[in-house]
Formats: sequence, C-alpha cells, structure tokens
Amino acid sequence: MQETRLNNKIAEIADFIAAEEEFLLLGHEDADGDCIGSLAGLAYLLKGLGKNPVIAIYQPVPEMFQLAIADELQLLDASEQLPEIASVIVLDSSGQDRLGPAADILESRTVLNIDHHEDNDFFGDLNYVRPEAAAAGLIIYDLAVSLGWKINEKAARALALAILSDTGFFRYSNTDTQTLAAVQELMDLGADIHRINRALYGQNKPEAMRLLGRGLSRIEVCGQGKVAYFYLDREDYRTTGTTSRDNEGFVNFARNISGVEVGIFFSEESDCIKVSFRSNDYLRVNDIAASFGGGGHPRAAGCKVAGDLERVINEVINEVEKHV
Ligand code: AMP
Ligand code: MN
Ligand code: MN
Repeated sequence: MQETRLNNKIAEIADFIAAEEEFLLLGHEDADGDCIGSLAGLAYLLKGLGKNPVIAIYQPVPEMFQLAIADELQLLDASEQLPEIASVIVLDSSGQDRLGPAADILESRTVLNIDHHEDNDFFGDLNYVRPEAAAAGLIIYDLAVSLGWKINEKAARALALAILSDTGFFRYSNTDTQTLAAVQELMDLGADIHRINRALYGQNKPEAMRLLGRGLSRIEVCGQGKVAYFYLDREDYRTTGTTSRDNEGFVNFARNISGVEVGIFFSEESDCIKVSFRSNDYLRVNDIAASFGGGGHPRAAGCKVAGDLERVINEVINEVEKHV
C-alpha cells in the first residue's frame, strides 16, 4: 500500500523549534551552495531566537561558499563523534543515505527534514518538503517570514547565497518570481549579490581552470546532437594538483552546447565514478540518475556508480540515448 506522505504544518515546525534549545544541523555530502547557505542561514536565525545551533559538515567548506560562514557559527567535523543533541534538522537532503557518516545517528534523535527534492522519502519525524521551491534556502527564508523570525544581515547573505547558487544566479529553469522576490528582500536586508556573484564565479583557481581545460578538450556529442559529455580521471586531478572538489559547475559546459538537451560529466573518484547530469528543456535526469542509484531534480541530478570509468560512461550514455 502506498504510504501517504504529508508535510507537517508550519505551526508544528514552529512548536518543535520553540520547545528545544539545542539543534544539530546536517546537510548532504559534497555540500553545495544551497546546502551550506541554508545551514548557515538557519543557524543565524536560530541564534536570533536565543537557541544554540551546531552544524556538522563532512568536508571543509569550499572557498566559494565561505562568505556564508562567520566565526560565531559552530561547525563540527561529522566524521568525529557527534554531540548528543536530541533535536536534529536536516536540510537539502532527499534521504538519510545522503548524510554520509552522519546517516546512522538519526535513529535515536528527533529529526526535522526540510527539503526541496521531489524524491524526498520523508525520513524525518517531522517533514517539510516543498519540491516547487527552487532551493532549500528559499524554504528557510519563507519559514522565517511566516514565523516572524528576524533575518539579520548574516542570515540574509547566507540565504541569498543558497538561492543564487541553486538557481545558477537566476539562469536555471527553477528561477521564478518567488526566488526573485526573496532575493530582492534579502538584498534589502543586507545581502550584497555582486559579492556573492564574485564568490561563486569569480575566484577560480588556475589549477582548476587547467583541469577544466583537460575535460573540455574531450567533449563528445552523441544522441543526434542532443547529448554532450566529458570526463576527468584520477590522472587529471593528480597532474593539475586538484581534487574532485574543484569541479563545481563543470557539467554546465556540456549542457550549454548548442542543440544539446543533456550535459553529462563523469568524475573518477577514489572509490566510484561520480556522474552529474544537467538538462535544458524536457529530459527528467533525476529519473535517469535514480536508475543508477542516485537522484536529484528534473533538470539537475547525480549518482555514484561503482566500476571502471570507460564501462560506466558507456552504460550511462547508452541509457541516456534511449530517452532523448
Ligand atoms: P551534482 O551534479 O552533484 O551537482 O548534483 C545535482 C543534484 O543531484 C543535486 O540536487 C543533488 O542533490 C543530486 N544528487 C547528486 N548526487 C546524488 C546522489 N548520489 N544521490 C542522490 N542525489 C544526488
Ligand atoms: Mn544541494
Ligand atoms: Mn538544493
């Protein structure tokens, strides 16, 4: 029988937050700008309510998202022993399996799941999932407005970074009047979007550009011109002195080729092949990613596949070509 999945009411979310003092905040592995920005934004908001939030992350915060983080935030390394905080809030994560080393700690705690992935499996004790929202940061912004929480300048900056990051600075198809209105309001509250733009797109490392160059030199187009892809292997990262944390946004170069519906980027990691999908108009790449054990949004999705790079490329491209 299909389980009915219902969101909790905003009043129930408000009660949960009002009742507790300490919160452990978690996001997904390989945290992106929406993940970092919404975690930091929520932490500032909770501090404004006199609460004590602690954020646990799995990898160091990349330079491009650092402007969301101020000294006053408490950031823990999630691979260490996490504190016994009973109330956990998870952001921007479609399922518990996205939480890497923190996935196991949820059982014994009360979990509020706030997310915008349509495949979210409602893993929380309380759930607030809004797939129509362009970013988790937009949901946090809406909650703050609905509940009358004061948004200070730091929260405004972090939430704007979250929304601008997941909408590609208003270029992706999830950009709507709500995202524009929210960012306008966040600018009035002190978010400097030029600074955010420079942080996201204007601090590329030379070695990351050399890495991109290696990948772009291998672009292949197939599927009657509708599919474009490229890869980076371990040798590329080693030779350029980079890691896979330096490939943020690379997949868009494949999507942005004239006539292409779907761009795909393959990255050879230490233990798997990470595949990123981006589509333009119609292809539901989250469904394709799901068939390889991943997920995501209709126009932006990903998965991790075990096996040899060449074999994974062939399997994924074969599957994609059936659907374009
Ligand atoms: P990426 O290509 O890594 O930027 O991911 C694009 C989107 O796909 C994001 O919204 C992620 O939440 C989602 N995603 C990426 N990797 C996975 C995965 N292994 N499992 C589920 N969702 C994923
Ligand atoms: Mn994310
Ligand atoms: Mn997101």
